[in-house]
Amino acid sequence: MSKLIYAFNDENSSGKDLLGGKGANLAEMTRLGLPVPDGFTITTEACNAYLASGESLTSVLLEELSDAILSLETRTGKTFSDEDNLLLVSVRSGAKFSMPGMMDTVLNLGLNDENVEKLAAKTRDARFAYDCYRRLLQMFGEVVYGIHMSVFDTIFESYKEENKYELDTDIPADGLKEIVEKYKEVYLEETNKTFPESPIDQLTEAVEAVFKSWNNERARIYRDLHDIPHDLGTAVNIQEMVFGNSGDNSGTGVLFTRNPSTGEHKLYGEYLLNAQGEDVVAGIRTPQEIEVLNTQMPEVYEELVGITKNLENHYKDMQDIEFTIENGKLFILQTRNGKRTASAAVKIAYDMVQDGVISKEDAIMMVDPKSIDQLLHPQFDDEALETAERISEYGLPASPGASTGMVVFSTERAKELGEAGEKVILMRPETSPEDIEGMVVAEAIVTTHGGMTSHAAVVARGMGTCCVTAVSDLKIDGENGVATYANGVLKEGDIISVNGSTGKLYLGEITKKDQEQSTEFAEFMTWAKEISRMDVRMNAETSKDINAGFEFNASGIGLVRTEHMFFQEERLIGMRRFILAQNHAERVAALDTILEYQQSDFEEIFRLSGERPVIVRLLDPPLHEFLPHTENEINNVANQLGVTTELLKSYITNLNELNPMLGHRGCRLAITYPELYEMQTEAMLKSLIKLKKEGIETNLEIMIPLIVTAEEYKTLSDKIKARAESIEAEAGVKVNYTVGVMIETPRACLTAEEIAPLADFISFGTNDLTQLTFGFSRDDAGKFIGEYVDGALMETDPFQSLDINGVGQLVKMAVEKARAHNPNYKVGVCGELGGDPRSIQFFNDIGMSYVSCSPYRVPGAMLAAAQSVVK
Ligand code: PEP
Ligand code: MG
Repeated sequence: MSKLIYAFNDENSSGKDLLGGKGANLAEMTRLGLPVPDGFTITTEACNAYLASGESLTSVLLEELSDAILSLETRTGKTFSDEDNLLLVSVRSGAKFSMPGMMDTVLNLGLNDENVEKLAAKTRDARFAYDCYRRLLQMFGEVVYGIHMSVFDTIFESYKEENKYELDTDIPADGLKEIVEKYKEVYLEETNKTFPESPIDQLTEAVEAVFKSWNNERARIYRDLHDIPHDLGTAVNIQEMVFGNSGDNSGTGVLFTRNPSTGEHKLYGEYLLNAQGEDVVAGIRTPQEIEVLNTQMPEVYEELVGITKNLENHYKDMQDIEFTIENGKLFILQTRNGKRTASAAVKIAYDMVQDGVISKEDAIMMVDPKSIDQLLHPQFDDEALETAERISEYGLPASPGASTGMVVFSTERAKELGEAGEKVILMRPETSPEDIEGMVVAEAIVTTHGGMTSHAAVVARGMGTCCVTAVSDLKIDGENGVATYANGVLKEGDIISVNGSTGKLYLGEITKKDQEQSTEFAEFMTWAKEISRMDVRMNAETSKDINAGFEFNASGIGLVRTEHMFFQEERLIGMRRFILAQNHAERVAALDTILEYQQSDFEEIFRLSGERPVIVRLLDPPLHEFLPHTENEINNVANQLGVTTELLKSYITNLNELNPMLGHRGCRLAITYPELYEMQTEAMLKSLIKLKKEGIETNLEIMIPLIVTAEEYKTLSDKIKARAESIEAEAGVKVNYTVGVMIETPRACLTAEEIAPLADFISFGTNDLTQLTFGFSRDDAGKFIGEYVDGALMETDPFQSLDINGVGQLVKMAVEKARAHNPNYKVGVCGELGGDPRSIQFFNDIGMSYVSCSPYRVPGAMLAAAQSVVK
């Protein structure tokens, strides 16, 4: 194994895989000559070796650690015991991808009963020294020994109360000393261990805790949620402490180089004087806006602004920066690409292209296709907002969106109700990583504490969940399950609406309006379209959906499911007459009543689509779906059709199948009843002819579903073409159409070389193909797939993201077979997977001509298609 530890200034240190994101950036900033406190990084490999060896620190690592400390001591001129130059360090985790679920930080490590006195003497500030010590005891206790923070908080708060101190900073040194003693007792009570006085013991125990935290449950949940592999491991950063809490000329803060909610090009952040990092994040004191620093410490502010520009230009992305000021001197503790909302991501990418900082390709890679969804969701209706009853006036718009749901006060209840299908609003004083499961299911998150950089804000923004923080005019009593506001109280189950874009809360449900897209978004999407090789079509049949899809620039329709057009009352009668018909003539007569409806539906679809290609899939579902189910319905339908209930029931029994998904459905319906597809062909052709006469050109692709054999396809396509030709001849007009095959059975993939040459195109129905390849019913698999995914028996649910090794290989083989006789053969995907970014990458790589998905997934799919090319 190579070196396990790299100093920040080590010229041979490498990237994020080994050093984690934080470590790599600390090394990079050190190289850039920025004021970074000195330190070193223990690699992810060391973590993986620790976990693999049954959680023991190897002698090699311990040796390297001791060397690394010695050289840090040499470089800084400080040691863990020196009276004048006392070394204290912070220990922070840092995986390749930033992960809020893991152990984060222990500060002031190195302090003990002796060192605290040295620090007090040196700084002539016993209060400061004991404040650092009590913080170490708290953080170390929580993250290394798992003692709940509330145990320490209770001691701290009761001390304040008993002694009538209002602010933390009011407690004098002696008070903090007393608190330190009480904290030490907590160690014995809670863990039967004493606090380790030796700095080296503190360090090794903290390092082990960071390693272990890689596998804690919260971290695993976070990784699952963000598709981060579980075997990366985390690095550990050990860095010389600088003190933001050493007086009023010191402070600490966090900032984004641009606004993470809107993308506006303006510094965005907050800081606190005389404080340490966790004070800002925990939201215990209300921080100042970053601009105020310009009046309090203009020189520091100017230097900070310069550094933010430098870092943005260097990383070519918006940065999230942590800084500390110690006695007027600025230090940068961390930088990373900042998390942002989808709309901010688009605006930042767009602005950076306009400013010539990055290329359009770079811009495309800066936005997560999955996050695009956030931009397409509705907002509250303005008028409805005007009249709605406000719960609060003050709250920060931490993550945009508009959500309505029932109030819950705990993660447990959020989980219970959320998983039962209720829409819940999780309301907490503040959130911590333990709340992640509640946050995942919540429609919105509301906290009364914290700021724009609090845990709730950061996590919600990352998940695209609506979130409002710092609602200071609301008081939450979680234990009794009530929240009090100026005009009343909220209890669990009360319905409220949360506006994550303004930070306001309202009583009851508020109607929503459709979201308007920004011009930046529209332009950004044209870049995606330009860059992608594949087209993106939509699956749609209603004019509302079709219009939405075309607004998103879909290049056509990849799937019109015609059965959706049979379910209105008057059409259902026709269909039921067809099912009950005794002979061909009766069947044709019944279908004739549906023909006109179909024709006008098609006309609307073709008119909206014009020359853009439209695939119409001929009727697919088993016939029993068209018959009534309940006794009452059966009586009514029998009446309507003028038959006895007994007769109708006998048809229902006859059509009943043990395995309808594998039964008389798809093209097999038309093998038995060719009239069905002939009627649909007639309806399509007639509407095409009508439009042609109006001068409207169209591009129809007729698709036959669920094909298994070449013979089956030939029989049906011949009938369809014959019918189409006769309609054209009758009208004396030729129109534009092709006929193709929907491949959704393994056999059709295996014999694609026989089928493809007979058809004009192939579209893969990956829903059925996945169902039939796995032998998992797509309607029932939900009951057990979760266990496969949770138990790591399957990487992902194959109905949500393509099973590349199985279903993917069938698709790839079929494409190759189809292209063997014609390299330009048109192949597409119209199953749900056509909207999934990871599947889209695969479809791009195997040369698919297009993917098709529901209209609101079109922009995300288009972005994923563009990224597939850039990658
Ligand atoms: C499919 O099977 O992938 C498909 C698109 O058809 P449906 O979902 O209608 O069965
Ligand atoms: Mg199907």
